[in-house]
Amino acid sequence: MYWPKLPTATIREKVFEALNKNLNYNTEPILGLPGTYLDQEQFYNFPFLKEAAFLSVLVNNPNHIGCHTYSDGEKYFSGTQQLEIDLLRMCAVEILGAEESSYDGYVAPGGTEANIQAQWMYRNYFIQEKNAKADEIGVIFSEDAHYSVYKGSNLLGIHPIVVKVDHVTRQIILDDLKEKLEDAYNNGVRYLIVHLSMGTTIFGSVDSPTSFIKLVKDYFKDYFVHVDAAFGGFIYPFSAQNNELDFKNPEVSSITIDGHKMLQSPYGTGVFLCRKSLIEYVQTKEASYVYGSDFTLCGSRSGANAISMWMILMTHGSDGWAQLIQQLINRTNYLCDALDQMGVKYYRNPDMNIVTIDSDEISKDLAEKYYLVADNYLNPRWKKVVVMAHVNKELIDSFLIDLKKERNVAASF
Ligand SMILES: *Cc1c(COP(=O)(O)O)cnc(C)c1O
Repeated sequence: MYWPKLPTATIREKVFEALNKNLNYNTEPILGLPGTYLDQEQFYNFPFLKEAAFLSVLVNNPNHIGCHTYSDGEKYFSGTQQLEIDLLRMCAVEILGAEESSYDGYVAPGGTEANIQAQWMYRNYFIQEKNAKADEIGVIFSEDAHYSVYKGSNLLGIHPIVVKVDHVTRQIILDDLKEKLEDAYNNGVRYLIVHLSMGTTIFGSVDSPTSFIKLVKDYFKDYFVHVDAAFGGFIYPFSAQNNELDFKNPEVSSITIDGHKMLQSPYGTGVFLCRKSLIEYVQTKEASYVYGSDFTLCGSRSGANAISMWMILMTHGSDGWAQLIQQLINRTNYLCDALDQMGVKYYRNPDMNIVTIDSDEISKDLAEKYYLVADNYLNPRWKKVVVMAHVNKELIDSFLIDLKKERNVAASF
């Protein structure tokens, strides 16, 4: 895994260079496009924009509609679109182990769309190639999977199939998986989308693909595996010794990886990636006025989002990013060691930065004071801490002191 770290000035130059290759609404005779700058009365030419590459792209407002790994998108914005192509290469090849030019993808509004895009693509594949009916298609996932998997199956008219996990390990219960596969088959499901998580939202747990897929094969000939790395995609590939959920695993066909969770890019930076020869199944051929056609759910999207991710990755370089992740992991270890000493029950994947505390171990007031998020607002069983960039040792210490205090008081009764 390698990409370089560039000096801030170089990053700025490269972004302005890209922007200059885009069509300029001020200097070209542009009559036909339904796009322009951001409103110039509000977002006028601030002098500081010359220094601010990302904000300049935002104000220039290039549209990255389409899928630029597949075909040239709107040729009007080819400069910034090239940086999106570079960004997708870093994600697919360097972080997620794909072969060069073996993938398609785009920067989606978020992980929700990227997950739905995957379901949509596989559903259409089964319909077009296997003559499947929508209700012969299922999507199978652990009960800890993100709720967007339900949104997608609801929109697409396919069956959601949820598999129970072990309360302590958060791993799929294989006996339950077997039962659900059998039930699905007996109910007429013939085609399966396997939705695995590289870092679930509440637990940071990571699914084990081998045993899961082995069982799936006993019942289904036709299946695809999608990996939801919306949360874990910028952590786990850097922290884990052996990542079984990336493109090096031939079973994995598509991956969601969000910038706006761990990469600290603005909202609107989900990334969808899939192997070649799949994205065609979501081509909307009727998008005849879009140069290069459209393969995405969202249509128009801001080029500034892709640029922000590209800039962050180039600011750190792969080594710098790996170091940052190691720091987060170390701080999470520090928190867990202290919880162990206090005998607090919690779940944590050692390669992730989420610590999910058994809600019996902590008072409601303390959980509220530190904004811990519950698995279920109405009936909480777990309260999670996410060690994000702003969660420093002082904040962790202050939480630990409060927790120790309330446990001592409780023990003295
Ligand atoms: C946050 C999250 C999503 C959804 O992403 P949005 O960007 O909020 O649409 C999907 N999957 C997982 C695992 C997530 O943590």
